[in-house]
Amino acid sequence: YSGKKKEQQLTENMMNMKVRDFQSIPVVVQESFSVYDAITQMFLEDVGTLIVVDDNSFLSGILSRKDLLRTAIGTTELEKIPVHMIMTRMPNISYCHKNETLVQAAKLLIERQIDALPVVEDADGGLSVVGRLTKTNITKAFLSLAENHDF
Ligand code: ADP
Repeated sequence: YSGKKKEQQLTENMMNMKVRDFQSIPVVVQESFSVYDAITQMFLEDVGTLIVVDDNSFLSGILSRKDLLRTAIGTTELEKIPVHMIMTRMPNISYCHKNETLVQAAKLLIERQIDALPVVEDADGGLSVVGRLTKTNITKAFLSLAENHDF
C-alpha cells in the first residue's frame, strides 16, 4: 500500500468506530440515594461518574467525583442529603447515542470538559440509559486503532 492508501484506511477505520463498540455498562443510582451511598457506590463499582435516574429509570442527573467531594468537605450528614440536591441535572446533561461515532463523542467530552457521557435511547417520556462512555473508552479505542494499523 502507498502512504496515501494507508492514510485513507486509517481515517476510514477511525470513522467506523462507534460508541456501541466501546461503551461500558452504566452505573446508575436513584435520585433518592444519599450522598453517602453514592460515594460508597462509586468505590464499589470503581467508576468516576455515576448516572442518576428517576423513578421511571429515565436519565435525570450526573454525579462526578468532585461533585461528591465538594459536598463531603462542606457537610457532615451525608446520609441525609439525597443526590438529587447536588447532581448536575437534565436538561444540562451531555449524552450520546450508541450509533454515533466515537469522534463525535470525544468532541463532546473535550468541548464540555467532562469525563463521561451517558449512552441513551429515546423512550416515551424520557431517555433510557443503556451505557456509559468515558475517556478510558476513547483511550482504548485509540489503542485499538494503533494496534490494527499496519504502519
Ligand atoms: P470532576 O468533577 O470529578 O472533575 P467531570 O469533569 O466529569 O468530573 O465533571 C465536571 C462537572 O460536570 C461536574 O459538576 C459534573 O456533575 C458535570 N458533568 C459530568 N459529566 C457530565 C455530562 N455528561 N453532562 C453534563 N454535566 C456533566
